[in-house]
Amino acid sequence: MAAGEAHLARRLRPFGTTIFAAMSELATATGSVNLGQGFPDADGPVELREVAVAAIRAGANQYPPSAGVPELRRAVAAHQRAWYGLELDPGTEVLVTVGATEAIAASLLALCEPGDEVVMFEPSYDSYAACCAMAGAVPRLVRLRAPDWSFDPGELAAAVGPRTRLLLLNSPHNPTGKVFSADELGQVAALCVAHDLLAVTDEVYEHLVFEGPHVPLATLPGMRERTLTISSGGKTFSFTGWKVGWACGPAPLVAAVRAAKQFLTYTSPAPFQLAVAHGLGFAPEAMGRLAVELAAKRDLLCHGLAALGHTVYRPAATYFATTDIATVAPGLSAEEYCAALPERCGVVAIPSSVFYDPADPVAGRTLVRWAFCKSETVLRDALSRLASWEA
Ligand code: PMP
Ligand code: GLN
Repeated sequence: MAAGEAHLARRLRPFGTTIFAAMSELATATGSVNLGQGFPDADGPVELREVAVAAIRAGANQYPPSAGVPELRRAVAAHQRAWYGLELDPGTEVLVTVGATEAIAASLLALCEPGDEVVMFEPSYDSYAACCAMAGAVPRLVRLRAPDWSFDPGELAAAVGPRTRLLLLNSPHNPTGKVFSADELGQVAALCVAHDLLAVTDEVYEHLVFEGPHVPLATLPGMRERTLTISSGGKTFSFTGWKVGWACGPAPLVAAVRAAKQFLTYTSPAPFQLAVAHGLGFAPEAMGRLAVELAAKRDLLCHGLAALGHTVYRPAATYFATTDIATVAPGLSAEEYCAALPERCGVVAIPSSVFYDPADPVAGRTLVRWAFCKSETVLRDALSRLASWEA
């Protein structure tokens, strides 16, 4: 039993410490290059930092409205209109949260009854299963398969049953870096409409796309009225520590999530809300700059790992590349490999097996996730360290 587990409610015991915290601690303890937890090693625009500082100096220091400052609610609505043609009422259809993390938790708590089922793709971001457990909901997993992380439409259809409450979609997808295609989004939308399901989408990597456009599920026919779209400023502006996120969609859904949010955190830090509101008004060219830089870093890391013998699944978006380590570390699981890596090479990565159902020990067994949101020097250093790995 892990430390603290004796006191932890049974429904949360399977989740323990998140892999991101565990691996970042390991990186610090061993002085390793941290390609684990997804955070950039360069902060975002000075201009946004100055807005936050100026807001503190100007007195934005007491509780802002629970739904978020009007400036940010208006900015989210304007962003959704400008980028995707989605019309939202900033007064009733936008809710500001403490990162996308809180938006996901509040959505599942607000929308699910105990025993309700949530259809989601596997591998899946780790908070989804944990938040389902907090809500008493049950994940129904649909496998994405390498090399293109496509799914079997029959498997998706079979995941929907009488207890299905909602479908949770993460595109662009963590950990694989997949961007769901128009065809795949169409299948997901058709299923939601046919079974009258709600959809919750996690689009935190919406501006970190290298190939193809990002298409919110809410823009598909029949989806605007049943979709809650979640995003955050952390990835878009390279301020992951600011934790400003939002959920937007039809007023009744937003009101439900707001009811849960008010008892989780009530509100989110005002100065950072104002800074993110400013950032959402950046011109498309400025918004796209980070993705261009990241695409070059993706290529550097992917080529380097391929040259070291990894089977590389090149991502179309996000901070992360996945490799299969079966050929470079024969016989080892990703967890064993990632546990040995800091000691043997001074590098930290995430075993993607943690993003799969623990009841299936084979799924993702040899898949490793590498973050490339780091400087070129750091990535080259990591690759040269990895060259010392011997099977
Ligand atoms: N969803 C996904 C898919 C993520 O990768 C992350 C990590 N940034 C989050 C949600 C959490 O976002 P935030 O930091 O805004 O809470
Ligand atoms: N989203 C980040 C990742 O996938 C981690 C965020 C966190 O530590 N909770 O690496």
